[in-house]
Amino acid sequence: MEMVCIACPNGCRLNIEKNEDGTLLVTGNKCPKGIVFANEEILAPKRSVCTTVRTTYKKLPVVPVRTDGEIPKEKIFDFVEETKKIVLDRPYAFQESVIENLFGLGINVVCSVDMNRLVGE
Ligand code: SF4
Repeated sequence: MEMVCIACPNGCRLNIEKNEDGTLLVTGNKCPKGIVFANEEILAPKRSVCTTVRTTYKKLPVVPVRTDGEIPKEKIFDFVEETKKIVLDRPYAFQESVIENLFGLGINVVCSVDMNRLVGE
């Protein structure tokens, strides 16, 4: 399998083979981060995720939110479902937590805008 390491701008083309014991043999990396990247991407992929949540403000019916870190890829649909339950009924500051400690992962969902500036309160 091949993939490009995106841990830095070098963009090393990684060659990855699976050993019999399930571990990965990674070549093509110019530094150890490439091995970490390949292992995480194949064995436990994670992503930072963005979406929108609803508000009670007619002037601003939805606002963008994002995770403040990466969550396991298999939790992305659960994340979306969780954010659908939220309706913000006061102005949230930029990067203020809308959901704290999402699924006990130590990751927060934060507001991506300063609602005070947008709703004028
Ligand atoms: S392997 Fe190292 S040098 Fe190459 S892209 Fe990844 S982080 Fe950069």
